[in-house]
Amino acid sequence: MKEYQTKNPYNGSVIATYSQDTAATINSKLDKAIAIEATWADMEIADRCQLLTNVAELLIDRKEDYAKLMTQEMGKPFSQGISEIEKCAWVCDFYAHNAEDLLADEIIETDADESFISNDSLGCVLAVMPWNYPFWQVIRFAAPTLTAGNTALLKHAQNVTGCSIAIEQLFLDAGYPVGCFQSLKAGHEEIEKLIANDGIKAVTLTGSEKAGKSIARTAGENLKKTVLELGGNNACIVWEDADLDQYIDTMVTARMQNTGQSCIAAKRFIVCEDIYDAFLEKFTKKVKSLKSGDPMDEDTFIGVMAREDLAEELQEQVNKSIKQGAKVVLGNMRNEAYFSPTILTDVTEDMPVFKEETFGPLAAIIKVKDRDEAIATAANSRLGLGSMLFTEDIDAAMAIISKIPDGAFFINDMVKSDPRLPFGGTKASGYGRELSREGILEFVNKKTVYIK
Ligand code: NDP
Repeated sequence: MKEYQTKNPYNGSVIATYSQDTAATINSKLDKAIAIEATWADMEIADRCQLLTNVAELLIDRKEDYAKLMTQEMGKPFSQGISEIEKCAWVCDFYAHNAEDLLADEIIETDADESFISNDSLGCVLAVMPWNYPFWQVIRFAAPTLTAGNTALLKHAQNVTGCSIAIEQLFLDAGYPVGCFQSLKAGHEEIEKLIANDGIKAVTLTGSEKAGKSIARTAGENLKKTVLELGGNNACIVWEDADLDQYIDTMVTARMQNTGQSCIAAKRFIVCEDIYDAFLEKFTKKVKSLKSGDPMDEDTFIGVMAREDLAEELQEQVNKSIKQGAKVVLGNMRNEAYFSPTILTDVTEDMPVFKEETFGPLAAIIKVKDRDEAIATAANSRLGLGSMLFTEDIDAAMAIISKIPDGAFFINDMVKSDPRLPFGGTKASGYGRELSREGILEFVNKKTVYIK
């Protein structure tokens, strides 16, 4: 039986040792999911919504414990962990209140006496999830998917196994029947076999492009539906008329929250030359003021990165970009998993910090001539999760919506997820949508019913 350890990235201490699930254990969990499928799908939606309300209440009751667990396992500042758990409660409340309407039959007038779409459950959905928001990524998938009458198996990132087990227990404590939501401690090979099993009806993954391609390949070979939420390289466009005094804090948070480890973070700051000097001064001042330290301290904003190898990867992207001519305005100091908040200027489109996703506290600043060049530079990305634009000229901003080839466009705010709005990407950022009506309808059989 393969064993692995989870470690606290702040102090290197071992948190726990786990044994990976054997093939027999994984199959028996899938059997449990299949055994409850029909009963769970036949339950009134209102009753499933009540269970979701229980989850929301438990999340709030336990938010300090869960935030601490995330801090220990992946270095998230404690205060940001509290916010994450509160947001999880919000998405549960949203679907508890709205799922019945969202899942209701959709009547369509035809020549039949009656015809409509019935949103039936699919069965067991496999979720492969990452470590950056260990609770949020899972709950935003599970809340709609379970409420639509599906069951779920979770393969979480290894370094957050404690969170994975805690989430399984959360659903049990909320009253979900055994088998509805189970956590696996599975390696990549076991996941590949599991996807091929007839009991798995669909797969969702949040993670890297590499993981997305691998999961989608296996799912494709087995004709299983996938939803992929992969990386982002979001542009933060600053036009010459942006209100810096009002929005500079938002721009800094957009990059630095969660120690920069967010798919929707602002990664490329594309700034018009007329406002460039003022932007750089205010941005640098604010970034300098962010407190690094022990992620358990309430006032720490920058913790450590989730694993040392991730900090090393970021360092390589920075080093290569500096060799190509980027200038360090702030930071670029690394100590094991800690990476100091870093600002690079003179960034050009051929550098890794422009072309690749940077998953840490690093802002790449690009100076452009004017608004048009800013939009063209922003669109030059293989990824398409979202863009943000800061300007006082809302009419001009509205006029370029169709020129932004991403899954989201935010004007005068950071790209953020909201249970009421769809969330997802284009291009190499993946496909499918989470949250809102779109999210709950991703894992249903939209069955056509025709009665003559
Ligand atoms: P991965 O994409 O490798 O990990 C995400 C999840 O996918 C984990 O549960 C991982 O499991 C699993 N996984 C990866 N490959 C496979 C596979 N072939 N079969 C089954 N499961 C698989 O991310 P990393 O942790 O390596 O981070 C690397 C980079 O990915 C980051 O620097 C960032 O750029 C990007 N990323 C993007 C995220 C986002 O929110 N879009 C989130 C996390 C990372 P296990 O832990 O067991 O390997």
